[in-house]
Amino acid sequence: MRELPADVATAFDRMWADLEPVGRAADTGGYRRYAWTAPDRQLREWFAAECDRRGLEVTTDRFGNQWAWWGDVDASVAAGRPGVAIGSHLDSVPDGGAYDGPLGVVSALACVDALRRAGTTPDPPLGVVNFADEEGARFGVACMGSRVITGAIDPDRARALKDADGVTMAEALRAAGGDPDTIGRDYQALARVGTFLELHVEQGRGLADLGRPVAVGSSIWPHGRWRLDLLGQANHAGTTRLADRHDPMLPLAEAILAARSAAQRHGCVATIGKTRIEPGGVNAIPSRVQAWLDARGADPDAVRQVVAAVGQAARVEPAQESWTPVTAFDDELVEWLARVLDDAPTLGTGAGHDAGILANAGKRVAMLYVRNPTGVSHSPDEYAERADCHAGVAALTRVVARFVGMDAVGGASSGMDGTPPASEPGGDR
Ligand SMILES: [Zn+2]
Repeated sequence: MRELPADVATAFDRMWADLEPVGRAADTGGYRRYAWTAPDRQLREWFAAECDRRGLEVTTDRFGNQWAWWGDVDASVAAGRPGVAIGSHLDSVPDGGAYDGPLGVVSALACVDALRRAGTTPDPPLGVVNFADEEGARFGVACMGSRVITGAIDPDRARALKDADGVTMAEALRAAGGDPDTIGRDYQALARVGTFLELHVEQGRGLADLGRPVAVGSSIWPHGRWRLDLLGQANHAGTTRLADRHDPMLPLAEAILAARSAAQRHGCVATIGKTRIEPGGVNAIPSRVQAWLDARGADPDAVRQVVAAVGQAARVEPAQESWTPVTAFDDELVEWLARVLDDAPTLGTGAGHDAGILANAGKRVAMLYVRNPTGVSHSPDEYAERADCHAGVAALTRVVARFVGMDAVGGASSGMDGTPPASEPGGDR
């Protein structure tokens, strides 16, 4: 499928228009779709309604990720043929763009529409997923939905995480109608997934520079988040002599500069983009500063060196809040996808994804990226041309069709490209 059928393109456009106003801030035009808040609830209801529209029943796993399977996935698992899942997330960073996450979910639903034209049932079954709390905007740990169900984070730690208002994740889950006591590793939900394909807007300018609409993801850099706790002494900004001050803003300033220079030195990227300053008065020396460091790079040792340099500059030990090792997607699969998609380019990325968490849990995973002409992401400027979005759905449909035995829809030619490489045995760790 090189051209998306007109009715599928229309369905895509309708879904996109549905989502446009949800959680959009009037002042910035950015999205504030945080986990377990009112906009998130609206998005989850929208997802369930779209699945229902396609005759797919939504189930939630032991975190609250939403899954809709087309075909009897449990019977297929019992027969040794786990399903193929597609999808992404609907939550956002503070003042995020429209595409990061929703493009993958809307494309997955449109892909189901395109495959429906075959008039058969996918074999193995095809699942559409909306991962919960991917951005970690509210509780500080990204990819929470996939981390919890794969056992990559301890449920006790997850429950105890607090948002900026002091609300714990347990309280937030309960307020959203969930049961925090039951969250944890979900063997059944995971066993259903043999392969996961996540389509995502590109978060850089790789494709724009190559003049191609779609790429295949090759790897995700190792990345993590660290917290700096800097203590000082609150005092009067007018009457306290400079020599008598214990001002935690000074080590913060040094930490920020060190993050930049160490990242440059070690070929990484590092960002301090969030701080909490107490008491936060214009005329008061702060008593306490918390700052969060995000660091990523192709080489994990280099990332560690950056973190150490920042800690040294701030004279504290950075507290690690999350760490995700390098994620290399299945080479053979990446190569096959690129070949099927007319020699699509392959790109590595510094952005974390649920796909990476599932890959690290032993699942066979691949990603497709859709061109972002601005290269900007996690901002209202994030963008993709509508024609490229449609090309993304067509590409996704082409590869998924071959995974689920609907080659006619995918437009497979006979020969080697027709079937995806077989998954490794024991892939459902
Ligand atoms: Zn995303």
